[in-house]
Amino acid sequence: MESRNPADTRELIATFPRSGSADVEQAVNAARQAFQLWRLVPAPIRAEQIYRFSELLGQHKEELAYLITQEMGKPLNEARGDVQEGIDCALYSAGEGRRMFGQTTPSEMPNKFAMTVRSPIGVCALITPWNFPVAIPCWKALPALVCGNTVVFKPAEDTPACATFLIQLFQKAGLPEGVINLIHGLGEEVGRELVAHPGVDLVSFTGSSQTGAEVGATCGRTHKQVCLEMGGKNAQIVMEDADLELAVEGALWGAFGTAGQRCTATSRLILHSQIKEQFTTRLVERTHKLQLGPGIDGRTEVGPLVNAAQLQRVSRYLEVARSEGAKVLIGGEIASQEELQHGYFFQPTILDQVHPDTRIAREEIFGPVVALMEVNTFEEAIQVMNDTPYGLSASIYTRDVNQAFQAMRDIEAGITYINGPTIGAEVHLPFGGVKQTGNGHREAGSAVLDVFSAWKTIYVDFSGRLQRAQIDNH
Ligand code: ADP
Repeated sequence: MESRNPADTRELIATFPRSGSADVEQAVNAARQAFQLWRLVPAPIRAEQIYRFSELLGQHKEELAYLITQEMGKPLNEARGDVQEGIDCALYSAGEGRRMFGQTTPSEMPNKFAMTVRSPIGVCALITPWNFPVAIPCWKALPALVCGNTVVFKPAEDTPACATFLIQLFQKAGLPEGVINLIHGLGEEVGRELVAHPGVDLVSFTGSSQTGAEVGATCGRTHKQVCLEMGGKNAQIVMEDADLELAVEGALWGAFGTAGQRCTATSRLILHSQIKEQFTTRLVERTHKLQLGPGIDGRTEVGPLVNAAQLQRVSRYLEVARSEGAKVLIGGEIASQEELQHGYFFQPTILDQVHPDTRIAREEIFGPVVALMEVNTFEEAIQVMNDTPYGLSASIYTRDVNQAFQAMRDIEAGITYINGPTIGAEVHLPFGGVKQTGNGHREAGSAVLDVFSAWKTIYVDFSGRLQRAQIDNH
């Protein structure tokens, strides 16, 4: 299979294998065998290898950032951020090797000791999307490894070269054979087989809601642990007392950063009627000046979409928006510049007069498209904010501390920003969503340990006699 540059599809980045069942079998078996050794390596020693990996990522940061930009299109400074997030996650996970705390607590019986420890789960299948080709695999693989699990990693079809680069760094860091395994190929083929494979104990998936539903169902049937991270329809509220300049900057970065292809991208702007006109005028002015182009060009602020399917999807949503009565204030079309014709460029787009009941207000677009919605009160803003099936990220711009705290309490989202855009997660805090965004788990932070390890409760009775809990002591 081929991986091509989305900014100029004449450029071939890599060819990679369309793997099949035999490869899945081999990868899972390798991981199963390696698990028996890796689980017994002390966590602080496992962590040292992860620390070495962090150093290697740092040494290769620039090279890898270029590869990200070439392979999936995001501007170079964002690609550097993608690698940095991997480094941050490696440092944090390595530290966890010397923590991974359990609890000790008194027993209700005399001469008895009670404690909890974390134990690894086994073979973890990691299925990842293309929008953060370094950060997301790192988020999953590093905590999985430090907890003592082994990994089969199935990256997205659009970013195979980034995945291969990462695996080579793991090898250089000295990870024993079989501890991390890479399998390329189609999601509907090897991805599906991997999820169903009886040798896999846990699946961690980030991607579309549709695929996530299938992955979840298969894991339910085959009794696997599963962590799902799916869609979002994130909104930024701008209240009448907000710092408008700041709110416009936040909206631009939230809506058009990574060309809107982030699960935390701002796809709705909920604007108080008193500032709507003023805010919108400024936003359109600033959007007009955004530089669309190849990510490799240092002036570029918005890069291409990742592939032809995404370009078609965004174009189709624009047809939907027009048919639903939304007004296109700027953009709305595939880019027309001659020099962008070999890539998948879509103009940054602002839609006005979007009704909360319409598809454009409710469905994830995953492109540089933001919908404006007008409200008259704080309560209405929160109600519109929460009126979607998703609940990943949210933002409110206000100077009113009471409203800020009410928003923190009432917004239905896994992540909430006050006076900041909907994007900007840090690796030492939990990441994930409520409602249909996920299945209740969190990645990152120490919360991710609850995905990749199982609590084991241990009682040590040193009384030398049978002690019956709840009976002999009452
Ligand atoms: P996106 O819209 O981000 O491409 P997908 O859900 O299609 O979202 O893809 C995310 C990841 O899931 C990719 O690595 C893809 O190969 C994989 N994938 C796609 N379909 C399946 C499937 N049926 N089973 C398992 N993995 C899949």
